[in-house]
Amino acid sequence: MLPDLERLIRLQQLESTADADRRRIAEQPERAQALQSRIDQAQGALDAAKGLLAASQQARREVEKEMAVIQGRLSKFKGQLMEVKTNREYQAMQKEIEVAETEVKAMEDRILELMLEADQLNATVKEAERALAAEQQAVKAERRVLDEEVAAWEAELAKASAAREELVRGIDARLVATFEQLARQRKGIAVAEARDGICTICHVRMRPQVFNSIRRNDAIIQCDSCRRILYFAGVTDAVANEAVQ
Ligand SMILES: [Zn+2]
Repeated sequence: MLPDLERLIRLQQLESTADADRRRIAEQPERAQALQSRIDQAQGALDAAKGLLAASQQARREVEKEMAVIQGRLSKFKGQLMEVKTNREYQAMQKEIEVAETEVKAMEDRILELMLEADQLNATVKEAERALAAEQQAVKAERRVLDEEVAAWEAELAKASAAREELVRGIDARLVATFEQLARQRKGIAVAEARDGICTICHVRMRPQVFNSIRRNDAIIQCDSCRRILYFAGVTDAVANEAVQ
């Protein structure tokens, strides 16, 4: 194979590796953000559960306060009951006591309800705390994996960049310029395999004599359609079949 063609193939491999590494490294903040939002979501659920519990406890304190006022009134009525002079006053006082006792009873029921509700909300808070702890644990492990992956990609990228620099020094400068221009115009792919008479990247069929030249791998030949530099990788099924026949 023409040495420059071989080097260009290798250059393409290094570029593709480096591109993939750069792309994956660039996606890292988004992945880290997705991990963080899992924590945020679990934290949000816990905060919401705590908020409901606090509101329930606050409601209970308010009912208890109200009930204390009515109980105070009730014991005052009971004290006054001993001092009333007339039967009518006594009955009126009895009525007041009844009303107050009914109110206290309703409040006691409400407090009981709120206590049961608080028990449930407490259980929800505990569950949300467990879920948050589990999520923190899981995310921590995934972050470690992510960090390790990023470190590996960065190391691979550095290696590919160094190898590229070394390789480029040995290639004809005009070829390197052509390669770089193509890479810029063609989404990073400047070198393509020709297989079964077709450019494997743009899929355009080439003339038979062009394909025959490419199969010799002894010249720099560009695809008529996409301009990528073409090479032949080896015996293909079609060629093998031809040989059998
Ligand atoms: Zn092509």
